Amino acid sequence: MSEQIEHVECLIIGSGPAGYTAAIYAARADMKPVMYEGLQPGGQLTITTEVENYPGFPNGVEGPEMMTMFKEQAVRLGADVRFGLATAVDFSIRPFKVIVDESKEISAETVIIATGASAKWLGIPSEDKFKSNGGGVSACAVCDGFFYRQKEVAIVGGGDTACEEASYLAKICSKVHMIVRKDHFRASKAMQHRVETTPNIEIHYETVTDEILGDTTVEGARIKNVNTGETITLPVQGFFVAIGHTPNTWIFKDYIDLDEQGYIKTIPGTSKTNVEGVFACGDAQDKVYRQAITAAGTGCMAALDAERFLAAQHSAVMS
Ligand code: NDP
Repeated sequence: MSEQIEHVECLIIGSGPAGYTAAIYAARADMKPVMYEGLQPGGQLTITTEVENYPGFPNGVEGPEMMTMFKEQAVRLGADVRFGLATAVDFSIRPFKVIVDESKEISAETVIIATGASAKWLGIPSEDKFKSNGGGVSACAVCDGFFYRQKEVAIVGGGDTACEEASYLAKICSKVHMIVRKDHFRASKAMQHRVETTPNIEIHYETVTDEILGDTTVEGARIKNVNTGETITLPVQGFFVAIGHTPNTWIFKDYIDLDEQGYIKTIPGTSKTNVEGVFACGDAQDKVYRQAITAAGTGCMAALDAERFLAAQHSAVMS
């Protein structure tokens, strides 16, 4: 801990629609917010394609472009947006202590947690082997689909993300195999209809991944029917995983109440956590809606709650 401790009124941990919206509101309230963007500046929308359902963009907008605009707005209004990852916290007393990149210490009057959620993996050894060496396993079709132009690929999952990514891949790749473990999708009817009616998407229901095959790069995937145990090998060169997300909340677990899946518990109708002065917004506390617009809304709530908390503290000191 070589550097001097920096004191801030409002520290925002994590970017994405929730964090940037919190930064916009906190900056306009003159709270001089400092934001650390985390490992994936801009959050999950930076790895998506077109966003069609965010109000105000009648023709849709690319996710990364939208996040650039969010950031520009926050910076223009005075937010101090920095690259860095919060690696430890101490919320036992206020001002709160937050360590960034294991080296810099911040002392914060209020903290807004906007750390989002990260992709889940299947957890089989062959997945690990190929994802760590860039050998053909990915959790982001938009980032890596390009490498499989006119090739055959597989994608695991039956949710909206898997359907969205399968549709995206179908435009680039010669064929897309969807591996769905149940006999039905979890995705919305509209997304389901889209994949079912795309000619180069083949859906394998009640099927799980037995093994991803290959030496240094993916050369196939062996999939197994959960009822019969029968296996077949798909001749794929790319293998995508789209099976949901885990909230990025583990550094807070000693202080902040989390639910059984690790999502931050907030007082209903607010962004308040069990620690006064610490607020949570976005996907880190929302496993139900998980939309950019709802994340932005809760980011706004967090900044307003933080502003009111600080105002109450100041008036208590004055009286
Ligand atoms: P979901 O949790 O909705 O779906 C995960 C899918 O992966 C399910 O089909 C699940 O199967 C399957 N799955 C989970 N674990 C495994 C495993 N180990 N092996 C095989 N399959 C597995 O996650 P999504 O990321 O799809 O969506 C998250 C949220 O974001 C949802 O609320 C969704 O509606 C929303 N979303 C909205 C979009 C939009 O509106 N444009 C786009 C993308 C996401 P099972 O059903 O059997 O549990």
